[in-house]
Parts: sequence; structure tokens; C-alpha cells
Amino acid sequence: MKKRILLLAGGQSGEHEVSLMSARSVLAALPRDQFDVTPVVISKQGRWLPPTGTQKALETGEAPGGGDLVLHRVASAEGYDAVFPLLHGPMGEDGTIQGLLTLAGIPFVGSGVLGSAVSMDKVMTKQVLASAGIAQVEWRLALRREWRSQPEVVTARATELGFPLFVKPANLGSSVGISKVSHTDDLQAALDLAFSLDRRVILEAMTSHKPREVEVGILGNDAPVASPVGELSFDSEFYDYETKYTEGRAQMHIPARMPRDMSERVREMALQAFRALDCAGLARVDFFYVEETGELFLNEVNTMPGFTTTSMYPKLFEAAGIGYSELVTRLVTLALEER
Ligand code: ATP
Ligand code: MG
Ligand code: MG
Ligand code: MG
Repeated sequence: MKKRILLLAGGQSGEHEVSLMSARSVLAALPRDQFDVTPVVISKQGRWLPPTGTQKALETGEAPGGGDLVLHRVASAEGYDAVFPLLHGPMGEDGTIQGLLTLAGIPFVGSGVLGSAVSMDKVMTKQVLASAGIAQVEWRLALRREWRSQPEVVTARATELGFPLFVKPANLGSSVGISKVSHTDDLQAALDLAFSLDRRVILEAMTSHKPREVEVGILGNDAPVASPVGELSFDSEFYDYETKYTEGRAQMHIPARMPRDMSERVREMALQAFRALDCAGLARVDFFYVEETGELFLNEVNTMPGFTTTSMYPKLFEAAGIGYSELVTRLVTLALEER
């Protein structure tokens, strides 16, 4: 019997478009002799688009209005053997959809409520990983309420880290809302932007030199494996949205250009983080490697990484001999696995 799969794409976060790109690739790659796949696009307004609307959104990127509330439809998605929630950012990658699916008793690809929620929040991630002894840059938390009522306190907290520093919404992705701040004068605009997108904002010290950015893919549930290490290079100040999604702006190097013992350390740290955060199925773990000092810092864990055929995560496993179709098939199999 073919497995019936519900592929969820789009979603309410700033990464809606990125999700649609990933979904087109996954939809084309799930082997039809094994799976009956139904795609559903969730609009930015949080509506569950009917087949015509979903089709239009997948083809044109433009989601029409209308549709039922996701809340009502997810809970009644019985009849599917598994859901592939190919959603990035809040209301998709952060444990909310995972909670509804858990309540409904439907298996799904990727991390559960705990792993999704903790990994989505950069502050929580840092706290859990610090307790596991994993090296990270220095950071501070600020709340929207503090920024409104005591901006000088937040500014002082940021200044402690020194310049340049990074200001980020705690729960987002694709570099949406992230600023690299080099002068006190630019701090206010960066904080305003981040707080317009999140109640929680993380302030991060920059590494001592511009870091090499290396990433590793993890695949599995309670016996996860790590892919080879990949590296990204680019000319911009940092790996911002435009650099990420403009053709030709960033180059991928697999394997990463680093000593072998260092890449082994990256893979080991990534597996340790995956376990510490109770992730499942897949994750892409991002690191900063400071070549000048030999330091390695774990930056973040993405529980639903970009998934087009040219995205880093699938490319890393391709380098390990697992092609794209086989990879998505394995992810569905992992979702159905007894744990
Ligand atoms: P993703 O799309 O991978 O989910 P994200 O939106 O969660 O990304 P980060 O990975 O935290 O954001 O940061 C985006 C980019 O900003 C990094 O890839 C890096 O180029 C730069 N950056 C972030 N924090 C730092 C830091 N502390 N030091 C140096 N560079 C940083
Ligand atoms: Mg991220
Ligand atoms: Mg992400
Ligand atoms: Mg990142």
C-alpha cells in the first residue's frame, strides 16, 4: 500500500517564499510508486489553501485569500500516514504545528514539540548547548518590554559585547530581521527592526575575525548520523537574506576547506547538539570557524533547513552518497519509525 503523505508548505513566517521553493523540489522528488502526496500551502494569513489555491501558490508564489484556519484543518488531517511540515520559522518550525499533529496522532517528519521549540529560539538553544559544554559566542537576551520602557538598559547590555555585534530576532530564520551593528549610532534601528519581528531579541558578540561558515547535516532519530561538513563563502558583510537567495552570491564548498581533525570536531559537536536539543529526523547545524585562532563556535540548529535540490542540507547528504529522492524517502521512513 502506498503511504499517504501531506506536504505542508508556505506558512505564516517571513520564510514563506523559501518554504515554497523547498516544497516544489520535495513534491517532485517523493517517489510516486511509494507515496501518494497531497500538497497544501498555508497562506501568510495562516489559511489552509484549497487545491486550486495551493496549486496557484506553488506555481506563482502568489497565495490567494480565503481558506480555512490551519488550526481546524491540521487537527482533522487524519487519513494521512504522515505529514511533511516543510515550514520554516514561527508557526511551522517552532513546535506549534508539531503540537497540533501530536494531538491529532499523526506522525510527521522532523523534530517534535520540544526539539522544534528549543531549537527555534536562539536564546534557549544557547542555554541548552552551554549546559552541554558546547562553545558559542557571548550573547545577551533583551525583551520588547525592556526596549520600550528602558532602552538605555538594553543599549548598555549590547555595548558590553563590544562592536561589531549582531542583533537578531530570537525566533526566525533566513537572516530575516538580523543586523550587523558596527557603531552605537546604528543600534537603535537594528533593535527596532528585530523587535518588530519578535518579543525576544538576542544580542551576539561577533567572532574575533570574520568567521568561515561551516554547516553539517544530521539525519536520524535516536541513532543520528552526520554528513560531511560543507562551507559557504561570499563577499557580503555577513550571510544575509539577499546573499542567501540571490543566485551566484554565495558559493558552496563540500567538503569544507578545513583540516580533517577540525571537521571531525564539527561533526561530533553537531551530533552532540542534536541529541542535547532532542531533535529528530533532520537538522542542519551551523558553525563559525575562526581560522586565525582555530576556534569553533556553534551558531545555531535549524530543524527544518532549506530543502531545494541545491540547498546545503541535501547537497551534504548527496556528498555522502544519499541522493535527493532517497533522502526525502528516508525522512518519511524516519517519521514512521517506532522510537
Ligand atoms: P538560517 O537561514 O540559517 O536559519 P538565521 O536567520 O537563523 O539563519 P543566523 O544563522 O543566526 O540566522 O545568522 C545569519 C548570518 O549572520 C550567519 O550565517 C552569519 O553570516 C552572520 N552572523 C550571525 N551571528 C554572527 C556572529 N555572532 N558572528 C559573526 N557572524 C554572525
Ligand atoms: Mg536559523
Ligand atoms: Mg532556519
Ligand atoms: Mg543560520
